[in-house]
Amino acid sequence: MVIYKIENLSFKYDKFEVLKNLNLEISEGEFTGIVGPNGSGKTTFIKILAKILIPEKGRIFYKNIELKKIKAIDYAKEVAYLPSEIKLIFEIKVKDFLAFGRYPFSGRFGKIEKKVIEEVCEKLNLKNLIEKNLNQLSDGERQRVYIGQLLTQRPKVILLDEPTSHLDIGYQFSIMDILMDLNRNGITVISVLHDLNLASYYCSKIILLKEGEIYKTGNVEEVLTYQNIEYVYNTKVLVYKNPITEKINIFGIPKYMLEKD
Ligand code: ADP
Repeated sequence: MVIYKIENLSFKYDKFEVLKNLNLEISEGEFTGIVGPNGSGKTTFIKILAKILIPEKGRIFYKNIELKKIKAIDYAKEVAYLPSEIKLIFEIKVKDFLAFGRYPFSGRFGKIEKKVIEEVCEKLNLKNLIEKNLNQLSDGERQRVYIGQLLTQRPKVILLDEPTSHLDIGYQFSIMDILMDLNRNGITVISVLHDLNLASYYCSKIILLKEGEIYKTGNVEEVLTYQNIEYVYNTKVLVYKNPITEKINIFGIPKYMLEKD
């Protein structure tokens, strides 16, 4: 089933057009990666899906209902969004931060809320962190807590903006593995991803943006070709299938190594 249908979507910051006439469908159950060079409009696009930014042109349907007609609180019962950066302006314990995720469902903190949070802590291995302050955690632990808060919403869709950006290689895989596990358990995942290799390993669909337009959509092998990547990112790459994982890997090649003397 199509979960998002996007028709003629354009977006401007003041007069600067950032997204240009996007038309696309995203299906339920997919793990969709939004990729493209810096400034191509990825964050703007995911913020529009999260209902943070309102496009002036075009229409977006979530489960056949126009997004602008869905109340924020109802949308939050189905769709959870993790921005690329969260600024912590006050000290908060992990357990209280997790409880905020239940906000769309209840005004008070009752038995159900406690049970949901326990479930999430179990699933994401957060039990030893819940009494700590959020700002005492490592980047990797904090990211796990952020995803934990999304899950306390019991969402059907999660939208993420570069969820692995400050993490080392081990934590990158561990966060992506969590997302894949959620996806296999029925949650639709839509994530902006910087790293094309992670996109290749985890995504079932890729949306490749170039200067605010969709350059290509499809599965990994259709989209992450060396021709598409070289053109969109304006750099030379080697793309080949990793014999161990049987997934595509992308290696950038620096310009100086291509220069002949
Ligand atoms: P990406 O996530 O692909 O790097 P963004 O969606 O963040 O792209 O940005 C797309 C373009 O919009 C960039 O040129 C950026 O400078 C511009 N932009 C982003 N946010 C704002 C803003 N709040 N005001 C004005 N221009 C913005």
